[in-house]
Amino acid sequence: MAERSSSGWTLAIHGGAGALPRGLLAADLERIRDALRGALEEGSGVLASRGRSLDAVQAAVRAMEGSGVLNAGLGAALNHEGLAELDAALMDGRDRRAGAVAAVRHVAHPIDLARAIMDEGEHVMLAGLGAEQFAREHGLELRPDSDFITERRLKELEQAIGASSGGGGSVSVPWHPRGTVGAVALDIHGDLAAATSTGGLINKHAGRVGDSPIIGAGTFAENGVGAVSATGTGEYFIRFIAASEVCARIKYQGKSVETAAREVIAQLEAAGGEGGLIAMDGRGAVAMPYSSQTMLRGQAAAGREPAVIVEA
Ligand code: ASP
Repeated sequence: MAERSSSGWTLAIHGGAGALPRGLLAADLERIRDALRGALEEGSGVLASRGRSLDAVQAAVRAMEGSGVLNAGLGAALNHEGLAELDAALMDGRDRRAGAVAAVRHVAHPIDLARAIMDEGEHVMLAGLGAEQFAREHGLELRPDSDFITERRLKELEQAIGASSGGGGSVSVPWHPRGTVGAVALDIHGDLAAATSTGGLINKHAGRVGDSPIIGAGTFAENGVGAVSATGTGEYFIRFIAASEVCARIKYQGKSVETAAREVIAQLEAAGGEGGLIAMDGRGAVAMPYSSQTMLRGQAAAGREPAVIVEA
């Protein structure tokens, strides 16, 4: 069931769709819960003080990028070469302004870089070395490769390469087979925004870009209609322009956010894709469908206790 905000602002977040590993320690689960709670706190802080949804989704995603336990920012999964390559985007529902960054290797907070690109106004998306040059010019934090290469992520990569040997390509491994972080929000001014950040698929080909930074695929927001952040097998979300498709069904077919979101996930699933999304309509109703085993997620709204769901 879609839940409607009683009044004022609403925030929804996800920490990625996939499968939690068997035998995960209670302490690991708690760290993931803490990361989601921290993100809700950051985003809610902005919204509760009459701030903008755009700032709230950026703050929530930034917190998850910094957590180190989710597949984004410093916790990013590694590509086939053993390097992190990060994608991120955000979109302002007021005027469809957007900023995006693809395949950057040294940016601790890609969502801040996406925001800087958007604020600068000339471009929507920058990729690779040019994006990092822009980050340097704008005083954003750059980190060495080694800061992203953790023991856990190396082990996952090893598992993924092992599992795919003979088959090739990106495959699921037990711990965070995929993952991404995202947020959507409605503020008290009635404005929607969406943000997404990811390390992408484990063992992906160098240079591969997923759906997260592609406006309309993994990230989309339009005032009065909807805001969406997706997670899952990005190639399918790109082909099905999933995020904007949810909004199109709300806008042109008069569907509820719940119906529109479920239909799009079902359509992807039928084609062989897997994942989930968080979607919010223009009045703050939220839907969080997924076809994976689980999706890490959370929600907060004016006058309500924040809630996170981390379940197998
Ligand atoms: N959608 C992301 C990508 O394809 C990965 C994920 O959400 O699991 O890059």
